[in-house]
Amino acid sequence: MVNKELFELYNIDCVKYSDISKTGAIPEKINLCLFTKLQKFQEVIKNPFYIVKNGLNSGVHSSKSYHFKGLAVDIAFFKDIDWYDVYKASLEACFKGVGIYWNGKKHSFHFDCRPEYGFWKAFKKDGIWIYSSLFKDVKKE
Ligand SMILES: [Zn+2]
Repeated sequence: MVNKELFELYNIDCVKYSDISKTGAIPEKINLCLFTKLQKFQEVIKNPFYIVKNGLNSGVHSSKSYHFKGLAVDIAFFKDIDWYDVYKASLEACFKGVGIYWNGKKHSFHFDCRPEYGFWKAFKKDGIWIYSSLFKDVKKE
């Protein structure tokens, strides 16, 4: 769970505590590790970002989703930023699940605290997200 006191105790200032519920999230159902990693991510990436609407534990996420468990976050940046720099910073912050999304206009990013590494990308086509692995075996190039 997270609350204002924990945000202060762990010096989390990458997002404002008061902005969490504005995304639709229930702060008490979010795991603190998500924000300690996000804080480390902010220190590495050095660019301001925001949590997208329903990017925490609210909105349409399956019960198997790490969002549902309070262990995932979706973010976007105010200015355009190289997706590869974001990917590298997310690893430095010890996120193990990383998704890179392109909606045709702007990137957004999914980070989560899953136990095993998982990386993917997705782009939007005719209103549907098309997913693929972030990496392709050179044998198949
Ligand atoms: Zn997500």
